[in-house]
Amino acid sequence: MTSKVYFMDARSDSADTSLIAKTLTVFDAAGLDKMVNKGDVVAIKVHCGEWNSSAYLRPVYARALADRVKELGGRPFVCDTTTQTYNPYGSRATELDLLETASRNGFNALTLNCPFISADGYVGTSDYRVDIPDGYILKEAYVAQAIAAADVLITLTHFKGHGMGVIGGALKNLGIGAQSKRGKFNVHMGRHPKYGAGDAMEFLPENFQGKDKDPDWTLLEDCCPLSLFEVTDDDELKWDRERCINCLGCMGVMNPRGIFKPNLSNFDATDAAIADGALGVVTAVGPERCGFVTVAVDVSPKCDCAGFSDVPIVPHLGVFASTDPVAIDQACVDAAQHAPGIPGSLSEEVGVDAPGERKFDLAGSSIEGASEQTTINTAVVNGLGSREHELIHVERAGAEKFRFPLDTRPTRQRFGKLFEKFQPFPFDRYDTRGFNRLPEVDLDAVKGHGGPTVDPHSHGDAPYHGDGVLWHPGMEEAAGHSGMNPTDSEKAESPAGDD
Ligand code: SF4
Repeated sequence: MTSKVYFMDARSDSADTSLIAKTLTVFDAAGLDKMVNKGDVVAIKVHCGEWNSSAYLRPVYARALADRVKELGGRPFVCDTTTQTYNPYGSRATELDLLETASRNGFNALTLNCPFISADGYVGTSDYRVDIPDGYILKEAYVAQAIAAADVLITLTHFKGHGMGVIGGALKNLGIGAQSKRGKFNVHMGRHPKYGAGDAMEFLPENFQGKDKDPDWTLLEDCCPLSLFEVTDDDELKWDRERCINCLGCMGVMNPRGIFKPNLSNFDATDAAIADGALGVVTAVGPERCGFVTVAVDVSPKCDCAGFSDVPIVPHLGVFASTDPVAIDQACVDAAQHAPGIPGSLSEEVGVDAPGERKFDLAGSSIEGASEQTTINTAVVNGLGSREHELIHVERAGAEKFRFPLDTRPTRQRFGKLFEKFQPFPFDRYDTRGFNRLPEVDLDAVKGHGGPTVDPHSHGDAPYHGDGVLWHPGMEEAAGHSGMNPTDSEKAESPAGDD
């Protein structure tokens, strides 16, 4: 099966080639507008970004899609889900934290013109369990309730790399991002007998330096929500690994100290499970009611779930839309592979910056041996979609469609009377030239790349030369109603006539 992926590149030179316009254009071209019927509740799933990340998609993309859904008669809401604890200081693990972080990152009802909600409730246990008999490793998924309850799901994805998922595309936006917290434990292999961290992780407690040499040692105990670590009075580090649920809260504490050595099988299994989690979401909502829009700009090597955003590893790739989440991810991976790496980015640092090199195996993943294809391939196996795709280049839709819609009058109609009443240009000063400026300067003297060729302060003493009154429409009225302090003509013609 060959799926269609609709695409516009990232270049922009007009209103209808802005990335916002392109997002809406590919949305319609892919037929996603046809999914929305009058009265439908439409979930727009985004990644709102961790505290202090900055490469996540600007909220205006979601706002533009929400406005489009309203035009189509639907009732949109924008959503994300609570995370696992992930690290001791995560910013989205409860609804309260998620909404605070989302709002700081620009996602709220005011900016989006529709509600922004936590789709899996306050703690992350508000979900819908769905059987997935065709799953490769998972046989059930726990889908965030608000997403499972929606009539239509628009998955709006920022394409980038990911330390564990290798790529952060549409599949991951569903397979992790649309799972409840409970569902995320499932996908991350919590308590799995072979792939769970409790079983697969190499534990090297001898690398703990002891309380005296490790002033932050209390974090070794405090990082775990289940209190599975203990530092004894003898400086021995103990881990009750049998009870580990794979929240990942300890990884950032243990790994840098050499206490944990992550196991590739945990990463590979999670990457496969992401595809099954995505299948669970599509099963819950209905495949014919799921649309995918992916914006591949600011392609940072790690995910928006990190509290930072590194230099993008490839240039902006463009905007994609499809009804097939597998095809759209493959199209993005292919585009990144064919693109040159950005000098100074991680792609150059790890030697995958040449066009044709796979970018994410090394620049995305935080463990050697993981593959940018694992999730995609698994989603082929579980029947979610196809790697094979036809990339359809979409034409621009015309500037009229993307004009500022709130006041459609052209300039003279909007500003003619306004400027008469509140004249912003001081025509009544300096022989109608308006401002105190030198009549002529040597502009070439400040264009040299080696610095200016005139001395500092050597050009400021020339007197102003008025050059007579220039007539312009409305000048007479404007002179009497400028909205500025009245300035008499003598003062206006004086070189000292400044304010
Ligand atoms: S030991 Fe397991 S449950 Fe505890 S913080 Fe680490 S991953 Fe989470």
